[in-house]
Amino acid sequence: NKQILLDNRPQGEASASNFKLVESDTPPLKDGEVLVRHHFLSLDPYMRGRMNDAKSYAAPQPLGQVMQGGTVGEVVESRNPKYAVGDKVVGFGGWQEYSVVAADQPGALRKVDTTHVPLSHYLGAVGMPGVTAWYGLVRIIEPKAGQTMVVSAASGAVGSAFGALAKARGCRAVGIAGGPDKCRYVTEELGFDACVDYKQHKDASSLSKAIKDACPDGIDGYFENVGGMVMDAVMLRLNAHSRIALCGMIAGYDGQPVPMSYPQLLLTNRVRLQGFIVSEHMEDWPQALQELGTLVGSGKLRPRESVAQGLASAPEAFLGMLKGRNFGKQLVKVS
Ligand code: NDP
Repeated sequence: NKQILLDNRPQGEASASNFKLVESDTPPLKDGEVLVRHHFLSLDPYMRGRMNDAKSYAAPQPLGQVMQGGTVGEVVESRNPKYAVGDKVVGFGGWQEYSVVAADQPGALRKVDTTHVPLSHYLGAVGMPGVTAWYGLVRIIEPKAGQTMVVSAASGAVGSAFGALAKARGCRAVGIAGGPDKCRYVTEELGFDACVDYKQHKDASSLSKAIKDACPDGIDGYFENVGGMVMDAVMLRLNAHSRIALCGMIAGYDGQPVPMSYPQLLLTNRVRLQGFIVSEHMEDWPQALQELGTLVGSGKLRPRESVAQGLASAPEAFLGMLKGRNFGKQLVKVS
């Protein structure tokens, strides 16, 4: 069983030398356990925060242990009557080829149906990132038909789902993304009404002019994935009583946190801003997954994936994602 461990913590930017590839045997199964062969690993921005030894909502990734993370795969051996060989499952198996799972533990493993939804999408649109978009939109932003919803990192795993969910509620959906290819995908494939390329702008004031053209009636709901200049520019276009779902601030993950330039606009516009962590809202997952599964099954949400080949490619793919080199949900196909 090939595995990737966190070998040492980054000093400043993360690098491939923080990780180590090792090989070990999988232990024999005990009663209640199953052996899962991973087809795909999920690479997610939150993993960068957990590489640091800092206090956060989740404990740091322990050194010398397999990098933790979401996985999809199939049961190849079972000592649990509820799971049969061949079952397709979503779990939290980490950066390795196989995992041994105590399948009766709450939340450890979930069987999934791949008739209408490809297995890999259970790590993206019909998985944690999709539910993240759903929670921020439905529970925090509370959109009304006709309102304008904006999301940063719009072509990504969370952002793409946000657009489909906002359109399904009769909203105007506007994305912000890096580069013409991502912006074209956001409007042409994902069905957003407009997309602004932040890389064409060198400061928040210039970017906010482009956002104004895309949002002629201002912004009622903003789903924040990025922080920094992008957030500043959106803040300049917020309507009175708008809502911000503060989901992520990836621009500041791999180094210094990025400051916010216009906090006073939260006051003058009476904005409701709320941060959230999707794993603390498990009660909403079934409803969200149901809606997301329907959107994907019916072709109304067509998520893109960036797939790195082979377990050994995980560190470089992960570091690339932090720099925006992914185009859609970043996965690793475990060979
Ligand atoms: P994505 O698939 O969106 O990939 C990350 C994207 O972020 C990149 O493709 C890039 O897109 C963008 N990005 C990276 N660096 C910068 C930068 N410096 N400035 C602007 N954009 C940048 O990732 P996810 O959909 O998985 O995650 C999106 C956000 O959601 C992250 O911030 C993540 O931490 C957060 N999240 C939060 C959760 C919660 O519970 N609160 C749960 C899940 C995710 P581009 O090229 O367009 O810039």
